[in-house]
Amino acid sequence: MKFKILVGVGVSLLIIAAGAYMHTDEEFDFADSTGEFNHLFSMLSETKAAYIGQNFSLPDADSNVPVYDKYTLKQRREKGLPLTYGKTREYFYGDHVVYLTFDDGPNKDNTDKILNILEKEKIHATFFLMGKNIEKNPDIVKRIYEDGDAIGLHSYSHDYKKLYRSPRAYTDELEKTEELIYNIIGVRPIISRAPGGTSGHFTKAYWRAVNDLGYIEVGWNALTGDADGTGRTAGQEVTNIQKQLVIRPYLNSHLVILMHDAVGHEATVQALPQIIKLLKSQGYTFRVVTTAIPPAW
Ligand SMILES: [Zn+2]
Repeated sequence: MKFKILVGVGVSLLIIAAGAYMHTDEEFDFADSTGEFNHLFSMLSETKAAYIGQNFSLPDADSNVPVYDKYTLKQRREKGLPLTYGKTREYFYGDHVVYLTFDDGPNKDNTDKILNILEKEKIHATFFLMGKNIEKNPDIVKRIYEDGDAIGLHSYSHDYKKLYRSPRAYTDELEKTEELIYNIIGVRPIISRAPGGTSGHFTKAYWRAVNDLGYIEVGWNALTGDADGTGRTAGQEVTNIQKQLVIRPYLNSHLVILMHDAVGHEATVQALPQIIKLLKSQGYTFRVVTTAIPPAW
């Protein structure tokens, strides 16, 4: 079931590299809070995202900024540029590294509140956006991008019957959604998460179709339970994460937490500061999902 053509790289080297990036984050904060450094900040803010090369070369695996493509797939086809990075990429593993991820937005109430919390905590997260909701909230898409949080695709319709009819139906929604995002921020994401997850939905043909278009599929290995009935309240969501940290400590090299910011997920917004506090107290570093994200399991 798993796509076995990807390769990982050594762990220890990357842990050292992660330290170097934490230093860069501190520089951003300093410039951001000081009016006189506007010029410096505008220069630094350009490095808040990385872009894949024309030939689809990927940024360094230890880079902790969102990765985008300056072209849509349609433009790449027209220009005769490669559509994918190929069959292998490097993975980033660290020591107590966590990726906070939010699916199904953007949502006018919850997403802005989450962005405010992330800003206050001086950390970044990743948002897997749905085409339908992007159309309703383009201003929030812009804010996620400008804040330096990462954007991934999460289909257009989120309708399993339509989406999983065929690999082509699935990639058509990917392309439709990337165009919507491109029209708002001028770049397209190359990370993606299948609605409901790949398990039971993706055959080998789906994996091949997604890889042929250069997309990196992103799973999860921890969750607050905000969509499966086990995390109805903020307290339950925090407890769920607490338990998973104890049960599966070996995932700390790449903990990927699934949460939702769509309508009805106010409890997640409420739980978020406590979840961040818990992770910080255990020494976790927060990263955005990049092209070096390892398989979740
Ligand atoms: Zn979803």
